[in-house]
Amino acid sequence: MKAGGTVTDVLVVGGGPSGVALAAEVAARNLTVRVVAPHAPQPFPATYGAWLDDLPEWARGSVAHAWSDVRVHAGRAVTPLLRPYALLENAQLLSALLGRAEPGGLWWDVGRVVGAQRDAGVWRVHSEGGRSWRARVVVDASGHGGTLRRVAFRRGAALQTAYGLVGRFRVPPSAPGAMVWMDYRHPHLPGGAFGAAPSFLYAMHLGGDVYFVEETSLVARPALSVEALRARLRARLEAQGTPCAEVLSTEVCAFPMNAPAPDAGGGLLAFGAAGGLVQPVSGFQVAGALADAPLVADALAAHLPFGPDAASRAGWAALWPAARRETRAVQLLGVEALLGLPGAHLPAFFEAFFALPAAQWRAFLAPRTPAGELARIMLRLFARAPMRVRAPLARAACTAPGVSARALARAALPILGA
Ligand SMILES: Cc1cc2nc3c(=O)[nH]c(=O)nc-3n(C[C@H](O)[C@H](O)[C@H](O)COP(=O)(O)OP(=O)(O)OC[C@H]3O[C@@H](n4cnc5c(N)ncnc54)[C@H](O)[C@@H]3O)c2cc1C
Repeated sequence: MKAGGTVTDVLVVGGGPSGVALAAEVAARNLTVRVVAPHAPQPFPATYGAWLDDLPEWARGSVAHAWSDVRVHAGRAVTPLLRPYALLENAQLLSALLGRAEPGGLWWDVGRVVGAQRDAGVWRVHSEGGRSWRARVVVDASGHGGTLRRVAFRRGAALQTAYGLVGRFRVPPSAPGAMVWMDYRHPHLPGGAFGAAPSFLYAMHLGGDVYFVEETSLVARPALSVEALRARLRARLEAQGTPCAEVLSTEVCAFPMNAPAPDAGGGLLAFGAAGGLVQPVSGFQVAGALADAPLVADALAAHLPFGPDAASRAGWAALWPAARRETRAVQLLGVEALLGLPGAHLPAFFEAFFALPAAQWRAFLAPRTPAGELARIMLRLFARAPMRVRAPLARAACTAPGVSARALARAALPILGA
């Protein structure tokens, strides 16, 4: 990894998976790039899962575990998802990403960025302690909420929260050999507590007697606290008769799900969680960022010869074309519908969701499914959902702000006419 004090083509704020992915792809296109993060390169701290088929081919060497037995327990049904799911090995992912930057490599400086200003077409990025760096294009990849570009959440942030642990178990806490994407059974909770704030178990068998178990609140505003989720996880494991014999590590999780499509102005790019890339219904982001990074890097490389403004405009267009902005509006409608649904009906909602043809629920969870297709899937889901689920969904659709009426109308017409 080089060090240097020159004006780089690109400066990326943040050393998470998104920032490193973008910086590496930029470097691979022979542009000079600097990452500034409060830490040296380090394996990403969170437990990252992804659908195996969402991962680019080169990233599959960083898969620690993959499951073909993937299940959802929602309503009365246990649904086999028939879609392999992967757990990433973060040290390997980091080294694979940095390897993609060769042979040019990238520069990495340790610092916490506090601001940036532009002078004669060149950005100067400042960190705590008074250091600064110059670059032609700056990308904020500093995680949820952003640093140089703050994310503004309509009606406030709606959070996914979770408490998880890796531990040894004398009795399996979930199906051996399997990955449980969502288990909404709640033998450990009075119905009222579940209805007021539903949560589910996300679990992976890591081999032998070792499991990752996580109590997750998919999305809530206000958020369900991590402390409450920790108590629920313990209560669930006790109620199942599968207490953890030895805790090996723990993890907490809290991030917003309802970022709008970012405003493309201001001359600064944003990427990863800071760029609104978290999929609003699943909370997934990592595989999408790995897939988006080459597109943004291509745009920057092709347009930097025409100046930094042209490059940053092209970067925004690659990441957030008009079609994806429409998609986000419909995804946010989905989030508002989930927030408006009484918690007790959430399992029935997901039972109907995963009863959709596989291609449809997969498209619903994908980041770039066109708005019209997404809205058609929502209408099909509405038609198949039990009556008690339909009324709150319809209410949410009518009251959600910022929803593209055009996209919904386009979607509804063929179905109403059918
Ligand atoms: C516990 C947890 C589990 C998750 N699990 C999954 C999952 O299984 N699958 C999935 O797809 N998504 C998951 N997510 C959601 C999302 O993908 C992750 O949050 C992901 O880490 C976002 O990547 P990022 O690189 O955009 O941001 P981050 O990973 O948050 O990285 C931000 C980087 O910016 C740095 N930074 C912050 N502020 C500054 C600053 N002022 N100056 C310089 N650098 C700064 C940070 O130190 C860090 O290096 C999870 C999130 C959490 C919190």
